[in-house]
Amino acid sequence: KNLKTYFFKKGKELPVVDDVSFEVKQGETLAIVGESGSGKSMTTLSLMRLVPSPGGKTVGGEILLNGEDLLKQGEDKMYKVRGNDIGMIFQEPMTSLNPVFTIGDQITETLIYHKKLSKKQAHERAREMLELVGFSRVDEILRDYPHRLSGGMRQRVMIAMAMSCDPKLLIADEPTTALDVTVQAQILDLMRGLSEKFNSSIILITHDLGVVAELADRVVVMYAGQIVEEANVVPLFDKPLHPYTNGLMESVP
Ligand code: ATP
Ligand code: MG
Repeated sequence: KNLKTYFFKKGKELPVVDDVSFEVKQGETLAIVGESGSGKSMTTLSLMRLVPSPGGKTVGGEILLNGEDLLKQGEDKMYKVRGNDIGMIFQEPMTSLNPVFTIGDQITETLIYHKKLSKKQAHERAREMLELVGFSRVDEILRDYPHRLSGGMRQRVMIAMAMSCDPKLLIADEPTTALDVTVQAQILDLMRGLSEKFNSSIILITHDLGVVAELADRVVVMYAGQIVEEANVVPLFDKPLHPYTNGLMESVP
């Protein structure tokens, strides 16, 4: 609610997220679209309080998760929230997977840390999640290192890892942009299936209106750090109001 994120340049405040408010209900998928630099990633990073704040407060407003304001929580609590309550996947999973640890170690460590599972339980859960995202030779994947997998496989591992803690909210920042079309479809199907199974909410950042139409219930359109349009997917596609949204629609064949 009224989310504002500033950067400081030569002592001046530079708003990059400028009074943004939206709500995501349980089980709902909200898409954020907008041109490059419009503030989509900064919005979600701000939600997770992953914006560094040297020299003062950079994130303002309210971030309510089940009524609790995350901006009022200490860093310890935020460590728990990230992962436990909110899962996140990015465009390039290599930035989130550590190249020198096996996939099995990374998923089990996450579960031991966030869910306080025993090593054995965590290992079982990791196997289960990897099966759920479509791997057949799970034991091989568990022992493997991230860089040996294809982009689509890595993205599935990231989804398995993010969903393994059963988060209430999954934030996906352009999760399929780096993948080819067939793999994109698989990943989207997977996300849709898992969100239904776990009844989790999704915030999905994407450039692709096809993805929005397929996956989202509602969409917000960002422009220059602000929300310029918010609608259920169907009326928006019929009748966009903002010139930017109109342009975006016209660019789709
Ligand atoms: P893309 O589609 O390219 O991923 P985006 O909508 O996710 O774009 P953001 O990454 O959220 O855009 O960036 C929003 C704005 O914040 C950009 O204009 C960027 O220049 C600005 N920005 C990001 N980091 C800093 C920084 N450290 N100092 C000043 N401005 C920054
Ligand atoms: Mg971005």
